[in-house]
Amino acid sequence: MRNLSKSKILAYRQCPKRLWLEIHKPDLRDDSGSEAVFAIGHEVGDVARKIYDPDGRGVLIDVEELGHGEALARSAVLLRDGQTPVFEAGMAAGGALAYADVMLPDLSDGRVAWKMIEVKSSTGVKDYHRDDIAVQTFIAASSGVRLSSVSLAHIDNSFVYPGEGNYQGLLAEVDLTAEAISRDGEVEEWIAGAQAVAALQDEPEAATGPHCTDPYTCGFCDYCNRDKVLAEYPLGSLPRFSRQKQELMEELGIDDLRHVPDEYLSGHQARVKEHTNSGTVFFDAEGAAADLAPHGFPAYFLDFETAMFPVPIWKGTRPYQQLPFQFSLHILDASGSLQHHGFLDLSGNDPSLACALSLIDLCGDQGPVFAYNAGFECRVMRELAGLFPNLAASLVAIIERVVDLLPIARNRYYHPSQHGSWSIKAVLPAAIPELSYDDLDGVQDGNMAVEAFKEAIHPDTTPERKKEIENQLAEYCKLDTLAMVRLWQLFAGHK
Ligand code: SF4
Repeated sequence: MRNLSKSKILAYRQCPKRLWLEIHKPDLRDDSGSEAVFAIGHEVGDVARKIYDPDGRGVLIDVEELGHGEALARSAVLLRDGQTPVFEAGMAAGGALAYADVMLPDLSDGRVAWKMIEVKSSTGVKDYHRDDIAVQTFIAASSGVRLSSVSLAHIDNSFVYPGEGNYQGLLAEVDLTAEAISRDGEVEEWIAGAQAVAALQDEPEAATGPHCTDPYTCGFCDYCNRDKVLAEYPLGSLPRFSRQKQELMEELGIDDLRHVPDEYLSGHQARVKEHTNSGTVFFDAEGAAADLAPHGFPAYFLDFETAMFPVPIWKGTRPYQQLPFQFSLHILDASGSLQHHGFLDLSGNDPSLACALSLIDLCGDQGPVFAYNAGFECRVMRELAGLFPNLAASLVAIIERVVDLLPIARNRYYHPSQHGSWSIKAVLPAAIPELSYDDLDGVQDGNMAVEAFKEAIHPDTTPERKKEIENQLAEYCKLDTLAMVRLWQLFAGHK
């Protein structure tokens, strides 16, 4: 019997076929969504080691370097002695093995026991974390390790980084000892089931379904769906069409939005169906112009690019806080003259203050500030106002001028090529085909912009590459606001 890792047992929990494929046909897995990204500052695991072992006395078991056999043997010695904290300690028993993020010795009753802590980069405890901890606890206890407590440490998103590498308070611990211990019978069954599947000669049958993306997106989706004939306009393209309704339609043998009976559709969904069936464009030009008529000139068109870090790198900021490193601003006056301004900080220092000052300076004190899905822009400006109380009044004044173009687009325009989406990336090629994100070099969407930013501020990035990224980011963000200008012109009847 092979030892199955904790991740394999959790893969079995998601889908037995997934476990079998991971063991017998791992090459079929699509790993493209898990490419390495530029690590900026500290990883959560590194910081956890500093928090739990401030004197640096602990031992890190490096399984990559040691291999499983040696890692387990070294861990066993350290866990028997109970002298120092141990990180990534390996334990194996009953056909399963796991590595514990943090083991802290607890000698309070005169015998060696351990406080076991699993560290997660989430901001709370999820159900699948509870399964993870239950498996970890079962393996530790079965391998003879005495546990005095079991906890999960997650990021506390109210933590404000005081600087100087001081991350005390970043992690919040939740004690799961009683729950984890009480689930040993369940875990034993999971391990037995996983062992049975792993031993199968042939691939087990499993239909695809909601479990393929819950709690993780399975890497075998393409493989499992290889023979499935996909609908040209799948039900998922109907905006806000509930999962229950989708399941009901599937039971009725309907997988294409064009065939959904009208009684199941809201007004927007019915419009998507109607114009998908007819291949025609919906455009309420009069309504769109009326929506924009109250907003005069100069008209500002604003878009931010932001980055966030689980472990904050800039003093005064919180985990996962959206921090703007770039914005683009087009300004259109009553004569039709259009100016562009941009802000981009790739210095690696906190860009927030310079960003806020530049924004206040450029936005003036009157005229609508258009954004697309403007809740995001407003949230970013509110965060800036919280960071800089002396600028709050000016930032709030800009927020009060914000007008969202998304609801206007959603209510007044639809092209079948949007496939049920009103994101600017879907609306732009339909409404303004001469402008395209595909023509951009390098950065073409928000995720790429964040990765490019992280690469640019990484110490190993060359000045030439940094310059290249700077140009790509500038062009990308500029197109976002130019797209808004062109949509505004179309909707206002100025095209
Ligand atoms: S895609 Fe779905 S059915 Fe296929 S292995 Fe993954 S979870 Fe199982």
